[in-house]
Amino acid sequence: MKAELSVYNTLSRKKEVFQPLNPSHVGMYVCGPTVYGDPHLGHARPAITFDIVFRYLQHLDYKVRYVRNITDAGHLVGDGDEGEDKIAKKAKLEQLEPMEIVQHYTIRYHQAMESLNCLPPSIEPRATGHIMEQIEMVEKILEKGLAYEVNGSVYLDVIKYNERYPYGKLSGRNLEDTLENTRALEGQSEKKNPVDFSIWKKAAPEHIMRWSSPWSEGFPGWHLECSAMSSKYLGNHFDIHGGGMDLVFPHHEAEIAQSNACNDCDPAKYWMHNNMITVNGKKMGKSLGNFINLDQFFSGNHDLLERSYPAMTVRFFILQAHYRSQVDFSNQALVAAEKGMEKLLSAHAIIDSLKADDISDFDFDEIKEKCYQAMNDDFNTPILISHLFEGVKVINSCKAGKLKLDQKSIDQAKEIFDLFIEDILGIKVAQDNKANDISDDVMQIVLELRAKAKEGKDWSTADLIRDELKKLNIEVKDSSEGSSWEIKEN
Ligand code: ZN
Repeated sequence: MKAELSVYNTLSRKKEVFQPLNPSHVGMYVCGPTVYGDPHLGHARPAITFDIVFRYLQHLDYKVRYVRNITDAGHLVGDGDEGEDKIAKKAKLEQLEPMEIVQHYTIRYHQAMESLNCLPPSIEPRATGHIMEQIEMVEKILEKGLAYEVNGSVYLDVIKYNERYPYGKLSGRNLEDTLENTRALEGQSEKKNPVDFSIWKKAAPEHIMRWSSPWSEGFPGWHLECSAMSSKYLGNHFDIHGGGMDLVFPHHEAEIAQSNACNDCDPAKYWMHNNMITVNGKKMGKSLGNFINLDQFFSGNHDLLERSYPAMTVRFFILQAHYRSQVDFSNQALVAAEKGMEKLLSAHAIIDSLKADDISDFDFDEIKEKCYQAMNDDFNTPILISHLFEGVKVINSCKAGKLKLDQKSIDQAKEIFDLFIEDILGIKVAQDNKANDISDDVMQIVLELRAKAKEGKDWSTADLIRDELKKLNIEVKDSSEGSSWEIKEN
């Protein structure tokens, strides 16, 4: 059942059979957050996408080293080679040390990821902790003659690079197109060519974050940290490199160029990219007023939100779409996702209370097989969820006495739901649902005592139990199958 896993590789633009470089190990690098603001939906999607990949690969018995960085230096506003460092800008604005900003938002990011039940990566390196490694890479690229220094800054020479290695193979943009586009966008520059990008940048006098280097007091180009940290922790060539689709160009294209220029090889075998999130059909943007951070979702404190949404609803909503499809957030869609998730979780919760029969009308093997097939097909979580819903129907029919399941089938249903809902999709049952489980257990005891009273023809005790429960808005229903209970809304 754990047969062949296929993964869509952005590099080849097709699904490929997943064969790690080392049969039992997987190295995965994912671009992490730039910590200068509260985590939002744009952070949730890649984190959840690669959490699923991490969980599933571990389930397949791979020993996975998952590296996700924290960008805390050199990421300029506008992502170009000119402008202010995003973190330094925020620090100035709030009159704080840049490292105070970094610390504050790293903690906020970790808290949000924990709420979303994303497992922490194996290593979470920070750009500022790897300045030496980045300087070494710049030196090597200079030695190879694929970069040049101007006024204390160092740029990768894309034209020269392209003579040795194909530039643009990940994004599918050829150099001519890129040349035309960048020429139109960038004005005066010290670069030889507008397509060149900085790997070391001399700091302007007002720039707060700066380090000594052989070229100037400055800071590394944003693209460089991922190349330096991925090769340090995973080797020059590793299995999976992931991130959002918006990073394909220029960030990941630049990473490929840096790795080839420095180490003579591509960094990763498989490139995986999650698609973007829109809000009510529009791209998210601070200026558009539809920028909702995760805390606002959890508290409902935003003009566009009709109510609050628990972290698990947000997670389930994201998983209802394949990671390569776009997701559009709306109140309606979130409410629908929440209802679906509750259905799934309540079916999961009643499996233990199903009464086993001698025969079984349903074989859960088929569902299990289909669930694995969905995950093996490029981590197709929406298809996986639809197969789990087939299981929900069977469980509910059995509970209603319309279908028979033997103990083996019930055990299998339990195993499948535990595995796919909790371990692989990472849906955590909320604390109040756990409380519901306990109240259900307690109610079963009460109903059993009442059934005993009725057996002994002690009608007054049986009625007393029923009437007292009614005062608590709990209604007891008697049928030929036995008694059940439900909470009556006022
Ligand atoms: Zn990166």
